[in-house]
Amino acid sequence: MDGTGLRDVLPPARLFIDGTWRESGDGRTRAVENPATETELTAVPVATAADLDDALAAAAAGFRRWRTTSAWDRSDLLRRFARTIRAEADRFALVMTLEQGKPLAQARGEVLASADQFDWYADEARRVYGRSVDGHDTSTRILVRREPVGPVAAFAAWNFPSLLTARKIAPALAAGCSIIVMAPIEAPLSTLLFAEVAERTGLPAGVLNVVTGEPAEVSRHLVASDVIRKVSLTGSVPVGVHLSTLAAQGLKETAMELGGHAPVLVFPDTDVRRAAEVCARGKFRNGGQVCIAASRFLVHESVADEFTEAFVAETRRLRLGDGRDPDTDVGPLTTAARRTAVGELVDDAVAKGARIEHGGGAPEDFQVGYYFTPTVLTGVSADMRVMREEPFGPVAPIAAFATFDEAIAVANATPYGLGGFVFTGDLTTAFRASEELEVGMVGVNHLTIATAEAPFGGVKQSGHGREGGTEGIDDYTVTKYVSMRLG
Ligand code: NAD
Repeated sequence: MDGTGLRDVLPPARLFIDGTWRESGDGRTRAVENPATETELTAVPVATAADLDDALAAAAAGFRRWRTTSAWDRSDLLRRFARTIRAEADRFALVMTLEQGKPLAQARGEVLASADQFDWYADEARRVYGRSVDGHDTSTRILVRREPVGPVAAFAAWNFPSLLTARKIAPALAAGCSIIVMAPIEAPLSTLLFAEVAERTGLPAGVLNVVTGEPAEVSRHLVASDVIRKVSLTGSVPVGVHLSTLAAQGLKETAMELGGHAPVLVFPDTDVRRAAEVCARGKFRNGGQVCIAASRFLVHESVADEFTEAFVAETRRLRLGDGRDPDTDVGPLTTAARRTAVGELVDDAVAKGARIEHGGGAPEDFQVGYYFTPTVLTGVSADMRVMREEPFGPVAPIAAFATFDEAIAVANATPYGLGGFVFTGDLTTAFRASEELEVGMVGVNHLTIATAEAPFGGVKQSGHGREGGTEGIDDYTVTKYVSMRLG
């Protein structure tokens, strides 16, 4: 175990099926590691096929019960979810830091953002509107209803282990769906905390089920089941393609929140120094393991040196360390695999002529933990992997551009289309750039655009579907049309 007293902090390391905590059928478990210490925190069950069948049966029964629960009662329950999460924010944040590595303050912010999701959807639950249409003749009435799509199978990544699952659980429950959530195996405890909340708030059994296990086995089993009507993933493009293919066998609806490599366009008519500081802080938040992270910095050539100098200076100020230390700005990466992948991207760029302005590898003064020093690269070119592939780690390539059109062309030259950012003091440039970027979300003069009241999601290979905003609940409903002939 990682220190003492964890038993009071961590959620039960069990499956949560039909309102009951249980071990896996064959007792198999998988370790959960603290990435700052490389020690085992606990071990979670590896669900068997029989466990998953039980979860499916529970979700089917839970759906029958929940879809006939009034929208007002569902709303009330979601509100209690939000309150319970807020009341436990410190503990939930600590659990997240322990399993995922991010600094405590960021973890706490994420927990509160998860509570926001439940609050937002508590309101949206009561605002699912149908419509009535006059038919061809005066004796026909047409009703268009929005009904819950059915039991959902949800899979989310480990980088925001609370928020990413909250973004699925909250709208599903608001719409009247039941849900089986596969907790990210790399950091499953924050999702298991939602099972604890479900228990405490009195959510009927079977409406929310949380399972842990081997991702490929769990998804193959759940997605193939006739019970599941919708598949929602937050993850990488390859896993998105894989799950979409599985879902297509049963013609199931999907929502795919996939990777990104967000361009940041910095024009000379902005406060360049301030933009650089905001970008450096934003880029290295959560160790750069953020799908919507500002990720490729395209700076007008007239201010590129000033931007780079301020960016590097701000990066130098960031303190690397265990997320539990309040002075830490950047924690360890969540997995050893991530650190290796990031190192390979940096090596590839350097081999092709990039310059390391700061960082470049694992820090030498850390004996344990998956640390990687925040890294700034200049002299980057389109043939380098770091300009084409999502780094999902603390690497910031900075490139110069000469014209607006060139900046847009480079920005759009990846298969991704999740987020994009623009720094400019000119309204015309702001509008033109935000309209020409091929992305689902744009931030102008700031980076913190993910919020419950706005639709989060991408285009191109970053996927489809929206989480948040008024669009979020639509993803969990289907349209039914009723035609009524009056007597
Ligand atoms: P990944 O797709 O490999 O894994 C995502 C999660 O799904 C992990 O917990 C993983 O264990 C699990 N998984 C892996 N294979 C699976 C399978 N066959 N069936 C079901 N689950 C499976 O991605 P990753 O590299 O671990 O996570 C980072 C990726 O997630 C990045 O590409 C990032 O951009 C993306 N992401 C997207 C968003 C968004 O909202 N668009 C948010 C966060 C992360």
